[in-house]
Amino acid sequence: MAEQNRKMLLWAILIGLILGGIIGAIFAFIPEEHASKRYALLVAAPLGDLFIRLLKMIVTPVIIFTLISGVASISPARLGKVGVKIIVFYMLTSFLAIIVGLAVGNIMQPGEGVTLKETTQEIQAKEAPSLVETLLAIVPTNPFESIAKGDVLPIIFFSIFFGIALAYARDNQDAKIKESADSVYKFFDGCAQVIFKVVGWVMMYAPIGVFFLIFQVFAKQGAEAFGPLLHVTVAVYIGLLFQMFVVYVVICSIFKISPVKFIKKVYEPWLTAFVTRSSGGTLPVSMDTAERKMGISKGVYSFTLPLGATINMDGTTIYLGVCAFFIANAVGIPLTGAQQMTIIITAVLASIGTAGVPGAGAIMLIMVLNSVGLDVSQGNVKLAYAMILGIDALLDMGRTSMNIVGDLCGTCVVAKVENEMDMSYWEDNKSV
Ligand code: ASP
Repeated sequence: MAEQNRKMLLWAILIGLILGGIIGAIFAFIPEEHASKRYALLVAAPLGDLFIRLLKMIVTPVIIFTLISGVASISPARLGKVGVKIIVFYMLTSFLAIIVGLAVGNIMQPGEGVTLKETTQEIQAKEAPSLVETLLAIVPTNPFESIAKGDVLPIIFFSIFFGIALAYARDNQDAKIKESADSVYKFFDGCAQVIFKVVGWVMMYAPIGVFFLIFQVFAKQGAEAFGPLLHVTVAVYIGLLFQMFVVYVVICSIFKISPVKFIKKVYEPWLTAFVTRSSGGTLPVSMDTAERKMGISKGVYSFTLPLGATINMDGTTIYLGVCAFFIANAVGIPLTGAQQMTIIITAVLASIGTAGVPGAGAIMLIMVLNSVGLDVSQGNVKLAYAMILGIDALLDMGRTSMNIVGDLCGTCVVAKVENEMDMSYWEDNKSV
């Protein structure tokens, strides 16, 4: 999507959100039984649902195509020492991020006090699977069945496996195997491009979808919905800032990289990610920063940064944790300890499966909610999810910027450990 269109769309979504909120809040004064309100809600429901259905429609193809093409683009030769180290780093920081997200959720309890009034359908929390069941269920017995059922975790698992195998096949000595593997890669890469086009079109409906979803929230709930939305936004940003100024700062210090200089150097990609809301789109800027400002060798960053933009989403992980809290609290079924354990796993995996494009995290939130028995097609869960969707752009800016900072932090650490970083770039007299 052209830059100009993207900006216009952002504005349109924001306008949809504000108008939906205002008109909904006005309707809140009309009694439930009044014909005008009943009729308005009757019209709004399917038009809002359409957006949720469109989002659900793209979850599986987005994961499959982007993960397979992303992972398969890595050359196995690089998967050696650098690969193992960066993957361990990415997993570890994603794990820390979800702990941060859940800690913020536990302390701030976003969504508490929200009283959603779903009139047509009462929420029935499905029995959530146990932790062991969740872990085992990650391995599909039949990947095609998982695809048909839309079970996201096994799809992620299989896609990563398939992507790695494809990377090896592309590297095969046998010219015939290499050639056919290259065709498979091109196919998935092409599909990824096509599905991004579809995502772009779905997002064009976002302003209307958001308008009708938010309208329903406010018409049923009144203006009290503003407070909880502000609360959850603040909670997400506190988590993100903690990750930046505590987690990454401590990691930099451990590896003797000046945290102050790191933050100064990372400023440009951080800001780019904030405004573009796309890890993929920010990649050229992060690479430029690694090369020109951090003195990292191309052999390291050309591998670690694209991989990070595909699988390492610390900001998204924090967002998933906090928003799961918000929705569970809002529907009046606060998360239990066991459910939080499940979220640790599903959120980390969901972040791996999140594409580096605007809004992808909100799609993955659906599966995290599913893993704890909350179905977004159901009554109040739908309304609470709609509230989050309404402010998604705002949350996406923060989480994307933290996704990018996490990638660069990992790249610095691995480059430092591997002696692939020109430390003269970090001396005091060197401008950042
Ligand atoms: N927009 C994010 C990114 O590109 C993904 C997300 O929506 O969480 O990193």
